[in-house]
Amino acid sequence: MRTSTILRLKRVLRASITPGSAWADACDSVHRRIWGRLLPWSPNPAKVEVELTSACNLRCANCNRATSLAPDTGYIAASQIDRFVGESLELGWRWERIGLTGGEPTLHPDLPLVVSLLERYKRDHPSCEVAVVTNGHGRAVHEALSGLPAWVVVKSSAKTGEALSFEPFNVAPIDHPKARQMRFRFGCSFTEVCGLGLSRYGFYQCGPAAAVDRAFGWDLGIKSLKEVCETRLRAQMSILCGLCGHFLGNYGAPRTSRQDTSSSWQAALRRYEEGRPRLKPW
Ligand code: SF4
Ligand code: SF4
Repeated sequence: MRTSTILRLKRVLRASITPGSAWADACDSVHRRIWGRLLPWSPNPAKVEVELTSACNLRCANCNRATSLAPDTGYIAASQIDRFVGESLELGWRWERIGLTGGEPTLHPDLPLVVSLLERYKRDHPSCEVAVVTNGHGRAVHEALSGLPAWVVVKSSAKTGEALSFEPFNVAPIDHPKARQMRFRFGCSFTEVCGLGLSRYGFYQCGPAAAVDRAFGWDLGIKSLKEVCETRLRAQMSILCGLCGHFLGNYGAPRTSRQDTSSSWQAALRRYEEGRPRLKPW
């Protein structure tokens, strides 16, 4: 998939603003609200968040991996990581960043093997950042992190278990009074800023979309990297963004530390409790 000129231009502009500054926050907020309503966000094929496991040692409200509301200790197989690396090399796919996420990625039962499989890609593409995105909480997590090789970047949010404010992930835009005016296939900034998602069920337009699919059971994951293209990703977005509360950030939905769960999510979680959806691994 070719990166659009607009996406490249936006990246240059983004790089010219100091991340985390008040100016950057103000620009992001205005950008998000104006862009997300009028123009589509572009799925970013240069970045991927690989969900190593859906398990987590914390239970944050509004977690955008649905780890507490739709609990699951499943994890991606080493053979799937091997296939991901093989397909990436075969297709000459240039990842700028491969983020290893969860849940809590260090809870994967064989993190050292996963990392050693990814080293094959890193050797061919030394500029690719391979990062473990961890909550940094607890001794077991710290022990797992201390065993990582130096070329793996650790991004820790240093969570303590205290309530944090997140966007209302479990408030489905389709339950919003203005849902008819919303263009879900436009997505939100996550797909552009954080890139694609990969779980044991396939590729998605972003990491949170994999969690929505796991909870609702649509089984929309793209089952091979060579099939990933904007048309397929937009088709996912037209369904999954309608169920993801991050989309409401385009409409100024505030962050909250209280668990908000709209009717579509409540119904999906009831079904989940009765019997987990069966999605096909990729
Ligand atoms: S640490 Fe992250 S993955 Fe775990 S519950 Fe909190 S937000 Fe979700
Ligand atoms: S699924 Fe959610 S986070 Fe991903 S692009 Fe759609 S609205 Fe954004």
